[in-house]
Amino acid sequence: MTTFPIEKIRADFPILAEKIRGKDLVYLDNAASCQKPNAVIDAISDLYRHDYANIHRGVHTLSVRATDKFEGARTKVKDFINAASEKEIIFVRGATEAVNLVSQSYGRANIKAGDEILITAMEHHSNIVPWQLLCEQSGAVLKVAPINLKGELIYSEFAALLSDRIRLVAVAHMSNALGTINPVEKIIAAAHARNIPVLLDGAQAIPHMKVDVRALDCDFYVFSGHKLYGPSGVGVLYGKQALLEAMPPYQGGGDMIRRVTFEKSEYNTLPYKFEAGTPSIADVVGLGAAIDYLNAIGMENVAAYEAELLDYATEQARKIKGLRIIGEAEHKGAILSFVLDHIHPHDIGTMLDSLGIAIRAGHHCAMPVMDFYGVPATARASFAMYNTRAEIDVLMRGIESLIKVFG
Ligand code: PMP
Repeated sequence: MTTFPIEKIRADFPILAEKIRGKDLVYLDNAASCQKPNAVIDAISDLYRHDYANIHRGVHTLSVRATDKFEGARTKVKDFINAASEKEIIFVRGATEAVNLVSQSYGRANIKAGDEILITAMEHHSNIVPWQLLCEQSGAVLKVAPINLKGELIYSEFAALLSDRIRLVAVAHMSNALGTINPVEKIIAAAHARNIPVLLDGAQAIPHMKVDVRALDCDFYVFSGHKLYGPSGVGVLYGKQALLEAMPPYQGGGDMIRRVTFEKSEYNTLPYKFEAGTPSIADVVGLGAAIDYLNAIGMENVAAYEAELLDYATEQARKIKGLRIIGEAEHKGAILSFVLDHIHPHDIGTMLDSLGIAIRAGHHCAMPVMDFYGVPATARASFAMYNTRAEIDVLMRGIESLIKVFG
């Protein structure tokens, strides 16, 4: 193992000391949501205790302080993903809202009847349904690039679908159901060769790797705060400035306008044009604190540590008779989806909970992936930087014990 400050990191997350049903908590449901370090919890409560007021419009001290913290978080996000400007960072409620924003703003302005939108067969529902809504509204057609049994995109089929009718490509950077990391550089280069913009759904990728939107050259990148050790209720839409400038507002209301009359309203500049209404101020500040926390550890170190965890978990899981791993991509992040012979994933989840182990059992908001594998659901252990080999051992012993009881 690399020298990773695991004990210090674990101590920063107070919930990890919880006992669940009398057992030490083993939290392996990070792909659903990650736990929060003290730095994030404190940043939120400090704001409410000392600096809270509504932002942007105020002339009084507290409003200025809250605005500085809020806009400071925007700069942190910009630097974290290496965007060119704060204008390209739009705060939304989460990855889901960000995709809906692009669908309803960019999509309705640029995608017409007969046009096509290209996604993959491993998308989360929030990168499927917003496009279906747009297709219903516009008469456009949704195309889906298939995956193979390892859970990898079949790139040749993707490339074959990339016709001149495609107006947008929207792809998961990393699959939350399978762990697959997509060849996004290749996807973006191929799409751009045909002048097609690309949206990357980074909700699952961003907590696990360094993301550089300029190096990727993606046109949109979306993610949620709660999967990045930050609060729920806040997420980010990154968009290239030129695209965002040309897009109509998504929602109307306060803050997104410069001047309002009953005849016509004049919209605010970026990024405010897309931020109607009072945002989740403290949560944005909390997201900024999460980014500071991750920067101090280093995303490269997080990625290297988690790669070792995944290798170890995979190796151990392969030793268990009757366990089938769902998703064995060559390029994969720290997720272990699996099924057991004769035991329903929900029973796996319930049994493991009795041992203090939190995993997720279900379709992981990726029902088409479940259909592809012919399973109703999978059990999913998803790892974060605070997990350990010892916890993986607890998981494996837990699985073995329930195979003994039910198998
Ligand atoms: N896309 C992916 C790949 C995800 O993993 C998730 C969250 N599980 C989402 C989108 C949606 O994120 P949220 O529910 O936070 O909007």
